Amino acid sequence: MKAHDGMYIDGAWRPAAGPDVIEVVNPADERVIATVPAGTVEDVDAAVRAARAALPGWAATPPAERAARLAALRDGLVARRNEIAETVTAELGSPLKLSQTVHAGVPIAVTGSYAELAATYAFEERTGNSIVFHEPVGVVGAITPWNYPLHQIVAKTAPALAAGCTVVVKPAEDTPLVARLFARAVHEAGIPAGVFNLVTGLGPVAGQALAEHPGVDLLSFTGSTAVGRRIGAIATGMVKKVALELGGKSANVILPGADLARAVNVGVANVMSNSGQTCSAWTRMLVHRDQYDEAVELAVAAAAKYGDRIGPLVNAGQRERVRGYIEKGVAEGARLVAGGPDSPHERGYHVSPTVFADVTPEMTIAQEEIFGPVLSVLRYADEEDALRIANGTVYGLAGAVWAGDEAEAVAFARRMETGQVDINGGRFNPLAPFGGYKQSGVGRELGAHGLTEYLQTKSLQF
Ligand code: NAD
Repeated sequence: MKAHDGMYIDGAWRPAAGPDVIEVVNPADERVIATVPAGTVEDVDAAVRAARAALPGWAATPPAERAARLAALRDGLVARRNEIAETVTAELGSPLKLSQTVHAGVPIAVTGSYAELAATYAFEERTGNSIVFHEPVGVVGAITPWNYPLHQIVAKTAPALAAGCTVVVKPAEDTPLVARLFARAVHEAGIPAGVFNLVTGLGPVAGQALAEHPGVDLLSFTGSTAVGRRIGAIATGMVKKVALELGGKSANVILPGADLARAVNVGVANVMSNSGQTCSAWTRMLVHRDQYDEAVELAVAAAAKYGDRIGPLVNAGQRERVRGYIEKGVAEGARLVAGGPDSPHERGYHVSPTVFADVTPEMTIAQEEIFGPVLSVLRYADEEDALRIANGTVYGLAGAVWAGDEAEAVAFARRMETGQVDINGGRFNPLAPFGGYKQSGVGRELGAHGLTEYLQTKSLQF
């Protein structure tokens, strides 16, 4: 067990204002692996002051120099790739291979993409008799969740730094260790003191203090819809800019001409990856009634292959929440065809890969985000029915369409009320804008669209 001290504020590790600590637990064996300080209002205030003091200098730093620091940060993350992966596996419980490819690999790619964008983005443009300057919004408060702990810090910090903003991050209490590792990489990359600051702490204390701080110009939050709604209201009440990345209940629509086996196998893998703790997971599989029984059989076989290969959920509370949803699915009449609430493991917060058949659109497990390895398979009668079901939740974060003909899949995707759709499998693109329609959020992350979130315009007329 390692007791970590200090918050990274103004370019140094400073003692926390209060004595309280947060225990970090390895969800695979339930052991306490470390403690980090639980930040208070005073720590948040010190961090915001440091960010504000550093703002004029960083905002005036030429974009090429900001790009060079981001490139150095990317190189630092590459050098620490294994350490990042091992840290995420220890505090989140994800299998090491997933930690290497996704939890370490994606933040490296995203940091690299912003090093390039900072160097090439047109921070000035001409329109008619005007020049338009794209200027940094100011001090960014970033509140992040635990499910992709480094990615979510990087998806806010890298574009903010590219834009010339300064940042205070409050990471999730379950996964503060990779956040501390990131702060060390920021320091080594020569990013000036105060440009990036880290305050570990509890959501209702340190998170709330950041959301309410008058020195924060933009609040960027990723997490649950309930918390996002609350702190979004606080921040907009203070006329801060707000970006919210919230929950999802994304549809995987398999049209009759699709390669059914591939669509089902990729669909199951999409849900089980990261033990289902993915906001953009395709948790509702929509299958034509003529292919329904075959699809369910394929899904059961695919889930069985996952068996022991998925990690635990992040904590005991999350496991109870997921088990509760599984029990609710059974109680509401869905047919449990794989998995269930019990776990074959004695220790660790595991839930077996679970598949429900005969799920109807109004059931709780077809409407609410479960955030566990639970797939609902729904039946549709025709394309209009599929569209109604796909669009029939309060969320709209991601989705998938599979069809024999790509144009047919694209035509369907155009009618979906959602921010991202993968066509016949798709592939992750770190430059593609990511974010929600409806109650899945406000704003976009990644690529040039993610950068513009951190910019405001000033026009000069001649
Ligand atoms: P959460 O909302 O409880 O916590 C997210 C962050 O908010 C944490 O850092 C937490 O400490 C902080 N927080 C909690 N209460 C707060 C408060 N009162 N004031 C200020 N900050 C507070 O969510 P979680 O349980 O950590 O994450 C799971 C949820 O996040 C899921 O619902 C999931 O869909 C969502 N999520 C969305 C995305 C996305 O990109 N849209 C990505 C990941 C997770």
